[in-house]
Amino acid sequence: MLSPHNPNAFTRSPLDRAGHHRRDKAWLGAALEAETTLLIPFHQQRPLVTEEGGVVSPGWLGAHARMRIAPPDARLLFLGLDDAGAAHFAIDIDDAAKLEGLGRFDDLRALGPRLSPDDLAILGPAKSVFEWHARNGYCANCGGPTLVVEAGWKRECPACSGEHFPRVDPVCIMVPTFGDRCLLGRQKLWPRGMHSALAGFIEPGEAIEEAVARETLEEAGLIVSHVRMHSTQPWPFPHSLMIGVLCEVEHDRETIDTTELESGRWFTRAEAGLLIAGKHPEAFAPPPFAIAHQLLKTWAEE
Ligand SMILES: [Zn+2]
Repeated sequence: MLSPHNPNAFTRSPLDRAGHHRRDKAWLGAALEAETTLLIPFHQQRPLVTEEGGVVSPGWLGAHARMRIAPPDARLLFLGLDDAGAAHFAIDIDDAAKLEGLGRFDDLRALGPRLSPDDLAILGPAKSVFEWHARNGYCANCGGPTLVVEAGWKRECPACSGEHFPRVDPVCIMVPTFGDRCLLGRQKLWPRGMHSALAGFIEPGEAIEEAVARETLEEAGLIVSHVRMHSTQPWPFPHSLMIGVLCEVEHDRETIDTTELESGRWFTRAEAGLLIAGKHPEAFAPPPFAIAHQLLKTWAEE
């Protein structure tokens, strides 16, 4: 690992997940009555936020608000405990009308750079788990309806006793380098000038290094000779784990797969520094919020 600590957004949550409480119904019931407990409402996978003086914050409510804003069977997710021991929950709201005047429900991806690192790390898992619940109401084994258990972290099938856990999809994301240059790609739909790392889902039976080599060859026609792990990032759109890698390649004769990318372009290390600083005359990189930015930054500064 290159980084002394993980540099990525959505990591380093200030909450202790305290997973041992998830099966303790008495503890959870008491926590939902406690004065110190906080609740963050979500509606269609969007968190409630407030904005004051240009500063965006999660719209935390006291636990006592629960019955007023949602039916008793509304889906809850226990997020963890803060340093003072206060429990934090997320609640999935179908009917947003009862929250009128308390803030707005907004898209986490669009909000991302405006929320604090702590807030992103708290909201990210709730976004991923609620999205998983929304798509997994029925048992993949027998087709019967499943029930939410363990404070929102699991679904169980009463018909076949099947157990279902929130999924995480591993994705390798890499910047191929050849000497003092790196290759970045661009997709047709991206804003004009934006270039970023290559990326692809890791397939069953593949090591991370193997997936990096396969994706780099498929997308850019480049043969990987060395893989260096950088850092990882939970990316809640909808529930990926980005595995960031710098990889050296054997040559610089790229062949871009135009079904996936519009184009690829080599940048010198000095140009990579300009991309990161937002000072390149023709191109720009994703914002610091994205692991691609951190990968490129590390390489540019080496
Ligand atoms: Zn089942």
